[in-house]
Amino acid sequence: MNRRHFMGQSAAALGLLTGLSGPARAANLQKAEILVIGGGYGGATAAKYLRLFSNNTARVTIIEPNPEFISCPMSNLVIGGSRKLSELTVSYDGLSKRHGIKIVKDSVINIDAAKQTVQLASGKTMRFDKVVLSPGIGLMMDSVQGLAQANQAGVTLQAWKAGPETVALHNQIAAMREGGVYAITIPEAPYRCPPGPYERACQVASYLKANNPKGKVLILDANQDVTSKGGLFKKVWAEQYAGMIEYRPKHNAVAVDAKTKTIKFDVQDDVKADVLNILPAMRAGDVAVKSGIANSNGRWANVNYINFESTAAKNVHVIGDAIQVAPLMPKSGHMANQHAKVTAAAIVAELSGWEVNPAPVLTNTCYSFVNAREVVHVASVHQYNAAEKTFRTVPGSGGLSSEPTSLEGVYAWGWARNIWADSLA
Ligand SMILES: Cc1cc2nc3c(=O)[nH]c(=O)nc-3n(C[C@H](O)[C@H](O)[C@H](O)COP(=O)(O)OP(=O)(O)OC[C@H]3O[C@@H](n4cnc5c(N)ncnc54)[C@H](O)[C@@H]3O)c2cc1C
Repeated sequence: MNRRHFMGQSAAALGLLTGLSGPARAANLQKAEILVIGGGYGGATAAKYLRLFSNNTARVTIIEPNPEFISCPMSNLVIGGSRKLSELTVSYDGLSKRHGIKIVKDSVINIDAAKQTVQLASGKTMRFDKVVLSPGIGLMMDSVQGLAQANQAGVTLQAWKAGPETVALHNQIAAMREGGVYAITIPEAPYRCPPGPYERACQVASYLKANNPKGKVLILDANQDVTSKGGLFKKVWAEQYAGMIEYRPKHNAVAVDAKTKTIKFDVQDDVKADVLNILPAMRAGDVAVKSGIANSNGRWANVNYINFESTAAKNVHVIGDAIQVAPLMPKSGHMANQHAKVTAAAIVAELSGWEVNPAPVLTNTCYSFVNAREVVHVASVHQYNAAEKTFRTVPGSGGLSSEPTSLEGVYAWGWARNIWADSLA
């Protein structure tokens, strides 16, 4: 079986492409300029699958400022000290050398959907027929008074985009005085990675248990209760970190005083801590907001879920964390990867004159490390509902771990290595 035959069969098997091609539309596909903005979980996958689903005929360019992909999944282990950032870093060479994707190291500062152009920070303008926009999240620093200044001064760190801040936060925790307090604040959902802050609290506690056993972890959550895997996390906190982790719901951070390291809340009493990890409210990455594409409360991008085309900008397909999610759809790397495949298939189908798959299905699995080895997971399946024009979880699908195990730790690393290969190799 040759490669063309194989890819055609793979796409058909996934139910991603339906219908027949016409020569005129196939030429459209080959002539089209497809720009992918952002080379993270969504963008890297979309670029690779646009090439695969088009039998390597589509012209695909990624615009991404970072020289390498650094994964947020697993980055809490760097904060907990059991892994290094280099273990979560993947080169873009696979996409450029093996898949023929052009990579432009730059940032997009504006998308003009009417003119079909994007403007780059370097001053260049690029024309497009299709854009896949996967810029991830923007942190709304203004939602917590004093946070921008505290962050600039290096007093508070977020480390919610993996990179140098991840290592810096680990170093702050390692340098914390004996018996010191690490506090993490969690914004109201939706935010990137629902279980991520609770996993981080476990990782910090795991580190403190071994290195600073009188240290404390305070989780200050704006939500009514733990937003993901609640029963499992609470059991772990009681059994593995008794007296070390304290969980306080309904704590909505509104201000921070960098000098006294004090967090203020809208209702609850002030909290002082030694290491402040303040996660502000989140929204779509800045370029989506500035280009008028974040049309859901000015925060997230509304899309047509059949092909992820923006409802505000024709030919701009938005995927990953930046979108206004369907009910129970998490903002996760796994989900961004799934959005990317449905979108790549829809764009190839549209430009080839094929029918776009009317019934896409998405899956999600999310593993959380509760110490350096043991893991719990949650999984779900999301099916497009044509009548409601949204995704709904499939009744009875997915599931939840019954307890943390080291075997799931092995599965979690298998998941990570597979998704990095799927998106980038
Ligand atoms: C601590 C933590 C743990 C997590 N754990 C998990 C997990 O276990 N499993 C899971 O599935 N998910 C996890 N996530 C969530 C996951 O990281 C995100 O959901 C995922 O990265 C979203 O993919 P994305 O493509 O939308 O954004 P990203 O992966 O962040 O990619 C966005 C890319 O766009 C680039 N970019 C931004 N703006 C521009 C611009 N203007 N021009 C050009 N490029 C731009 C950025 O540099 C970046 O490379 C975790 C997140 C965190 C913070």
